[in-house]
Amino acid sequence: MDENNCMVDIARFFLDFTVDESCGKCPPCRIGTKRMLEILNKITSGKGEEGDVEKLIELGNNIKVSSLCGLGQTAPNPVLSTIKYFRDEYDAHIRDKKCPAGVCSELLQYTIDEVLCKACGLCKKVCPTDAISGERKVPHVIDQNKCIKCGACMEKCPFNAITKG
Ligand code: SF4
Ligand code: SF4
Ligand code: SF4
Repeated sequence: MDENNCMVDIARFFLDFTVDESCGKCPPCRIGTKRMLEILNKITSGKGEEGDVEKLIELGNNIKVSSLCGLGQTAPNPVLSTIKYFRDEYDAHIRDKKCPAGVCSELLQYTIDEVLCKACGLCKKVCPTDAISGERKVPHVIDQNKCIKCGACMEKCPFNAITKG
């Protein structure tokens, strides 16, 4: 793992797995992990609010001590340890609505650098939502309201004029 991995997304990935694996016998694991996953989904989709991290910590610690078996007792660990060591990433998602690693697609924005753009039109051709406009010899522009953040334009641009962030 490196700076291209989003720690909030990693925590969400592991919790998603344990939510699926929970047998459902005890409520802390059956219900608590689902509530934690809902909060993580909220944060990674840009709808995180102040206090969400504190709720995750409180829920996680309660689930750890009150679950019946090892699955529930360890399920919150990826969330709690990423909060402990990468709290700044949680804050960036919640306060700045940014994913520093550029992973959480709903928080990304694709933009065209008007200096680098050679107006070749390739990005416009591959965009599935007609979000890119521009004429010959005129730098192209992305309409953020139409962009579904698929990344096809960035892959296609031969001049590295498109960035995500
Ligand atoms: S902690 Fe264990 S027993 Fe309780 S719901 Fe989870 S998997 Fe089942
Ligand atoms: S990311 Fe996808 S939808 Fe958005 S402008 Fe590029 S090709 Fe179009
Ligand atoms: S593919 Fe790149 S250079 Fe060509 S129009 Fe799009 S942004 Fe500009």
